[in-house]
Amino acid sequence: APVLRLEGIEKVYNRNLPSEVQVLRGTSLDVAPGEVVALVAPSGAGKSTLLHIAGLLDTADTGRVWLGGEDMTDLGDRRRTRARRGDIGFVYQFHHLLPEFTAAENIVLPQLANGTDPGAAERRAQSLLASVGVGHRAQHRPSAMSGGEQQRVAVCRALANSPKLLLADEPTGNLDPETSETVFAALLTLVRETGLAALIATHNLELAGRMDRAVRLRDGTLVPV
Ligand code: ADP
Ligand code: ADP
Repeated sequence: APVLRLEGIEKVYNRNLPSEVQVLRGTSLDVAPGEVVALVAPSGAGKSTLLHIAGLLDTADTGRVWLGGEDMTDLGDRRRTRARRGDIGFVYQFHHLLPEFTAAENIVLPQLANGTDPGAAERRAQSLLASVGVGHRAQHRPSAMSGGEQQRVAVCRALANSPKLLLADEPTGNLDPETSETVFAALLTLVRETGLAALIATHNLELAGRMDRAVRLRDGTLVPV
């Protein structure tokens, strides 16, 4: 089964208001196990909406969302939350790390919330940080790190609970080109090493070209790039 299947997703905001906008019009996509797919879209095309629906943070008006062969569309909030915490990792344009905690703690905490034993959670945090070249920052708070380091820690946090699917919304969009390259390379290496499936939104066609496949969101549907 695909790790993610979106089937005929439609989404309208502000229905029946003058500001009504149909963002998605029958969007369908499969992401296979281990596949890394680029989501290319101009700003405002609906890429965040699509990622939020795929990540069970928002619901579609029409269409179905499958994760690992399981239809998640009609699940209640508690089961959606559990699936989201266990199966999906998110990376955003901004790191959203907890400022009062160290890098390692930011990666340990979601594991504890997921029932992992503290020793194992700490070891996993250290190993993830080392794998993206920020092992030496484990005891630093986000404010003491560079933007590229913060974003690499955010990638580690997204993978803390060994999700099946990584969703990333412009993960390097905030960074200068050189830092962007470092973060993207680290992210891609980690995703490849873990055999994770990923859907990564980017404006950057060079980055998109390094993924397995790229799709473009245009007029509410996905077309090959
Ligand atoms: P992107 O991530 O591609 O920039 P978004 O998914 O954030 O696009 O938004 C797509 C369109 O839907 C935009 O026109 C945006 O203003 C609108 N939109 C997004 N979220 C909402 C919302 N909660 N309510 C109303 N309009 C929204
Ligand atoms: P991003 O693209 O990183 O999600 P945005 O500024 O597009 O950042 O959106 C931030 C949040 O605001 C999102 O959760 C989105 O759904 C919501 N949003 C975006 N556009 C609108 C809008 N026109 N009206 C209401 N909410 C919106």
